[in-house]
Amino acid sequence: MDNIAYERPASIDEALRLVQQPGSVFIGGGTNLLDLMKGGVARPARLVDVSRLPGREIAQLPDGGLRIGAGMPNSDTANHPLVRQRYPLLSKALLAGASPQLRNMATVGGNLLQRTRCPYFCDTGFGACNKREPGSGCAARGGMNRSHAILGASEACIATHPSDMCVALAALRATVRVKGARGERSIALADFHRLPGATPERDTQLAPDELILSVDLPPSRFAPRSAYLKVRDRASYAFALVSVAAALELRDGAVADAALALGGVAHKPWRVPAAEQALVGGPLDDARIAEATRLLLHGAQGMGHNDFKIELARRAIARALSNANAAAETATG
Ligand code: SF4
Repeated sequence: MDNIAYERPASIDEALRLVQQPGSVFIGGGTNLLDLMKGGVARPARLVDVSRLPGREIAQLPDGGLRIGAGMPNSDTANHPLVRQRYPLLSKALLAGASPQLRNMATVGGNLLQRTRCPYFCDTGFGACNKREPGSGCAARGGMNRSHAILGASEACIATHPSDMCVALAALRATVRVKGARGERSIALADFHRLPGATPERDTQLAPDELILSVDLPPSRFAPRSAYLKVRDRASYAFALVSVAAALELRDGAVADAALALGGVAHKPWRVPAAEQALVGGPLDDARIAEATRLLLHGAQGMGHNDFKIELARRAIARALSNANAAAETATG
């Protein structure tokens, strides 16, 4: 059995100092990290518990946006009146994720940092996994890859990012505020997670000694027309095969702005700004949806078992956009 030190810092600065010791990691709700530790995938020497630090609140920003503290539980975030009212897309995506019990424990910061559920990564009985053991190979390439990436994959890794929340945050153009020994910085959500490339062991742009402080949402006009569509094997509790976050702003019947991102298809939430632009300038019609879909899925490639995801994504994009467009009509009866 491994000995694991446990620290409960009284301040963010103390947490940042403690995590600099070798083998140290932050722990919030622990819903993913503890599973990985039990399976021997993660073997930290020291846990720095940040769950009691400031960051369990949601505040309005001076520009009309919203600041969601990294320690906010997923359930409280989804049900917060300001989130439900102004960013219903985020609320819907959060409620599509995990189970009520997990959402009560999981935090916004932890959700951002959750790791792939690739079965070859999660089970140390499989030797070949470049993400778990750099240089060991990728068992998924020639193995069961039904749930794996169709976009942005590399020779080294074809894993997907499992979060629903992050798909909505990418579509809503959120930024992640972080703090480390060198001070604070903000990272666009779309840039926060990495593509695997030759170094799939790194999931995000976050340095090991940096702590997520908050997720900041810009002011948004998408609230009346948004939809989160998640296609999965079991409605009760499963990760997305494909998910779509879609939102529209309409003016005089024409799309003035659009938000569109995919989940379950890549190592990060998949957003292509040109695809959103293709929806703008006229009514939401089949031609605009087809062009946005073409741009969003450009370069999509299956690995055999997951070939079906390409057609599934095409259909899910059209359905989600149609649902978003109809959302205001439904709401106003
Ligand atoms: Fe590991 Fe990535 Fe291959 Fe899965 S897809 S086995 S996480 S290297």
